[in-house]
Amino acid sequence: MAICDALQSVNETIERTCQTAGRSPSEIQLIAVSKTRPSEEIRSAYDCGQIRFGENRARELESKMVELEELPLEWHFIGPLQTNKIKYMASRVDWIHSVYKKKYFKEIEKRAARENRVIQTMIQINISDEDQKQGIMPDELAPLLEYTAGLNHVRIRGLMGMASHTDDLDRIRRQFVLLRETLEQHQRMNGGSNVLDHLSMGMSHDLEIAIEEGATMVRIGSAIFGGRE
Ligand SMILES: *Cc1c(COP(=O)(O)O)cnc(C)c1O
Repeated sequence: MAICDALQSVNETIERTCQTAGRSPSEIQLIAVSKTRPSEEIRSAYDCGQIRFGENRARELESKMVELEELPLEWHFIGPLQTNKIKYMASRVDWIHSVYKKKYFKEIEKRAARENRVIQTMIQINISDEDQKQGIMPDELAPLLEYTAGLNHVRIRGLMGMASHTDDLDRIRRQFVLLRETLEQHQRMNGGSNVLDHLSMGMSHDLEIAIEEGATMVRIGSAIFGGRE
């Protein structure tokens, strides 16, 4: 089964990279990014032992969560947020990686409260400083954390970032280092709902660098499911 082989190969890369980086593979959570792929492929990945899945569109996530309701999957939303789409995921999503505006936190808090749930979230930082990438700049983080500390149905678990799409590996590394240092600098703001213990960074093409620089969640799509349109 192609998906099983691909998953095994990604897990081996994670283990090998952890070994050379002096980290434990148990510190790394693999999020299989199943966007655009049919639910059947998610089921296949689950049959090979994968439980964490990431999606980047609210309605697609919603329909997959319903279709695969009977499986004990952990669902991660990693895509661009829109206030009016949060309602489609609030009853079931476990993690939202891509929050960076107060208005999104307000809406997640409201919807999660109605569902009597706590949703784990990350704040997205624009580490590549490219206009088309979402997220806030590191110097905008402290005021947002002051606000989020008081929320009851949202828990802030760390930071998420996407590196530039480039072959310049040093540049990618510098961006991941920036994300890690930003997390470390703000851990003094732990308290209330802020529990800053995760770094969501690393995709198929920069997985190893992300692990070397401290990722605790890696978001891997094409290396597991193959290329997308
Ligand atoms: C698509 C996507 C990924 C996975 O990308 P691959 O290159 O397919 O591994 C990771 N993070 C986000 C935010 C994405 O949109």
